[in-house]
Amino acid sequence: MIVVSACLVGLNCRYDGSSCLFQGAVELMKMGLAVPLCPEQLGGLPTPRLPCEIKGNKVVNLNGLDMTGFFDKGVKESLHMVDMLDVKVALLKEKSPSCGVSWVYDGSFSGSLRRGQGFFASALSDRGVTLFSENNFTVSRL
Ligand code: SF4
Repeated sequence: MIVVSACLVGLNCRYDGSSCLFQGAVELMKMGLAVPLCPEQLGGLPTPRLPCEIKGNKVVNLNGLDMTGFFDKGVKESLHMVDMLDVKVALLKEKSPSCGVSWVYDGSFSGSLRRGQGFFASALSDRGVTLFSENNFTVSRL
């Protein structure tokens, strides 16, 4: 099974209540291979919610509030699913503070990016899970 960011299959779980439909994720769903999950919702955050960015080793929202606890809980809940299904591959939404694979926003809320991973992506990397984003995934790469 392949863990997929839920917003990539069209679920409206992004901070602004939208999705980010990606055809490669939909194909995985139709093949019965995808397990969609949203770490931020699993961490207890509402939808919609204020945008959050990683700052140092914390996650803060647009008002400067420390939201790290929600993100940590989201990782823990998501890893429960990963372990249960012995997941080896994930397809995650780039630039998210949870799911970003190679890029995240730099914590200034100015739209600037830096190299780095979101909290969930980083936890998956530590477990040796192969990560793809919508920028480099095709079903033929499996
Ligand atoms: Fe999508 Fe991940 Fe953000 Fe949830 S946490 S909205 S799955 S990018």
